[in-house]
Amino acid sequence: MRWKQYKIARERMVREHVYNRGVRDPRVLEAMLRVPRHVFIGRDAGVEAYADHSYPIGFQQTMSQPYMVAYLTEELRLSGEEKVLEIGTGSGYHTAILSALAQRVATVERVPQLAERAKTVLRDLLFTNVDVKNDDGWNGWPEHGPYDRVLLTAAAQQVPRALLAQLSDSGFLLGPVVRQDGKQEIVRLIRRGGKVEIERLIECSFVPMVRDEKRRSAPASNPEAGLAGSSRS
Ligand code: SAH
Repeated sequence: MRWKQYKIARERMVREHVYNRGVRDPRVLEAMLRVPRHVFIGRDAGVEAYADHSYPIGFQQTMSQPYMVAYLTEELRLSGEEKVLEIGTGSGYHTAILSALAQRVATVERVPQLAERAKTVLRDLLFTNVDVKNDDGWNGWPEHGPYDRVLLTAAAQQVPRALLAQLSDSGFLLGPVVRQDGKQEIVRLIRRGGKVEIERLIECSFVPMVRDEKRRSAPASNPEAGLAGSSRS
């Protein structure tokens, strides 16, 4: 497949599945036009990599749908100065988009083969402001913190306290959580001093955030309980 065909597929993806659905941040659109999504799949997916759905990447995991990557990235409100922590590297595609829009990105993936593959692809494509670690993201990555943004790319039953603790003041965590009715929604948890405000965004469907028993060390925080502040939607 020629490079030109991938470029055309990317332009179409951004126009039809991102811009036309309301994501308008020019920096997000530009990054998605530039990052070669197909390279992150790890086998020859062809232009199907740019279609309007999530894509299997092995190990029962998926690369998120282009719209969802765009939506979350826009909601992260990145100016280019931020330190970002991503939990759930997966293919590394979203990591690459973040790398283009933030100052530095730390990303944690629990499946060793995925972490290794993402590290290689990101390095080969010269995304040099990224650190990748194979670990249970439940504990975050305190050595690189505090973070202005934390992004979850897998749905948490409960938001790990360690991740909120690694946020800078006024920083926020964004990502899918499982509600009491079993449905998932994207929430934004904003740290204000010792308190956390919650904002509810849209319903969604993500693979679950797994908690590795053997690596367990940090307690959880229920986003429904004990958090001050307003909710929306
Ligand atoms: N943004 C990624 C999404 C991958 S799917 C992409 O577009 O490719 C979510 C990823 O989260 C999976 O790779 C899964 O293995 C990982 N994951 C699930 N639970 C995790 C945990 N506790 N710590 C780190 N990664 C986790």
